Amino acid sequence: TSLAAQHKLRLSVIGTGYLGATHAACMADLGFEVLALDVDAAKIERLAAGNLPFYEPGLEEVLRRGLASGRLRFTTDFAEIAEFADVHFLCVGTPQRDDSGAADLRYVHSAVDALAPLLTRPSLIVGKSTVPVGTAAALAERIAAAAPAGAEAELAWNPEFLREGFAVQDTLHPDRIVIGVRDGRAEALLREVYATQIADETPFVVADFQTAELVKVSANAFLATKISFINAMAEVCEATGSDVTKLSLALSYDDRIGGKFLGPGLGFGGGCLPKDIRAFMARADELGVEPALSFLREVDAINQRRRARMVDLARELVGGSFEGAVVGVLGAAFKPNSDDIRDSPALDVAAKIRGQGARVTVYDPAALENARRAHPDLDYADTMLAAASDASVVLLLTEWQEFREADPNVLAKVVATRAMVDGRNALDPERWREAGWTYRALGRP
Ligand code: NAD
Repeated sequence: TSLAAQHKLRLSVIGTGYLGATHAACMADLGFEVLALDVDAAKIERLAAGNLPFYEPGLEEVLRRGLASGRLRFTTDFAEIAEFADVHFLCVGTPQRDDSGAADLRYVHSAVDALAPLLTRPSLIVGKSTVPVGTAAALAERIAAAAPAGAEAELAWNPEFLREGFAVQDTLHPDRIVIGVRDGRAEALLREVYATQIADETPFVVADFQTAELVKVSANAFLATKISFINAMAEVCEATGSDVTKLSLALSYDDRIGGKFLGPGLGFGGGCLPKDIRAFMARADELGVEPALSFLREVDAINQRRRARMVDLARELVGGSFEGAVVGVLGAAFKPNSDDIRDSPALDVAAKIRGQGARVTVYDPAALENARRAHPDLDYADTMLAAASDASVVLLLTEWQEFREADPNVLAKVVATRAMVDGRNALDPERWREAGWTYRALGRP
């Protein structure tokens, strides 16, 4: 008899960062009992008190609802989750290694090593973290070696595609669910876990371990390529006096191309795309298929050149040197509706300009606290107007709605010089020029 037949499955979530906290809260919302674990005791304490340790629209309500229902609980004790759950979701970080572009699997390994020996009953461990192809097969052996006889520990891979800023929506209503399994029991359990989404007709793709792992990294490689493609066109536009926003709009009407991820600007960043394409290239090297992914090197290089171009544009506007210049920066998060500053293009540009002698003041609606911690060398302001005060140039680097709606006449009153570089093609050039601003943008005349 299946576990599902005995009682509603009980779930654990290991690692309560952006992915794990979202997954835990949403699964509790769907009616499962969920016990979520992290090695970071302070994070667990905050979550257990109903406070989200990061910014994600709508998630705190779901978290609080879960806590109030009694279905969502938190712990730092692996023995407790081993005893409690039928299915363990592995959601720990897989950052880029310090010494290479490869993925650092130490957190995955330490979580599995902590859990496996404690398993006492049939358990399914489900990897959600983004990992190099081949990781699941190796982990399955690691688990088999460490789990006590009779624990019947199994592994499945279930890559996650949620977008920060839309994490709740993407978890409850994903575009697709992909699982990598070795047998029917794991598949049956995961169909039980995702019964609600499957009933909503969410496409459900069942594959082997390595294909499931590859779906995630190839999706990210495609998305990064699409962004760098339009940014490469922006470089051509800059050389020809063309307008990349018009170009992008015209391309987007071709439904083979589509307009999503075709916005020209400062390029991608964050805790996923940059590290995932580098890890993918590193893995391709190991597999002896380096040429197959050599184009990703160019994708990465195009992305980095946008940041350099942004710095150049700003420097031009302050007369050729940042020495003694005052620069106002709008945006610190790697994208709007997030407080995530991992590999943020905005902070990278701000830091480069600071490094060239300017005084740089940054404002962001959600990411100030994280930015302050990571870049104590920059100055920070609590409002857009304060960041722009006395600026000889203002840079829009993260396209928050608040910045899109900024009134050029109001901002004009506080700056020293009306100069705007729109790093995200988020503003209406006419409107800003009419208000007396020098307006420059990436890929536009
Ligand atoms: P994160 O850094 O926000 O969270 C990782 C968490 O794991 C941290 O809270 C950390 O304390 C915890 N952790 C580390 N070692 C642990 C251990 N041994 N046991 C238990 N917990 C441990 O990272 P994230 O953004 O949530 O990403 C997690 C994984 O999901 C990564 O592989 C990432 O690539 C992938 N992913 C992330 C997103 C996203 O939008 N953030 C989307 C899809 C996939």
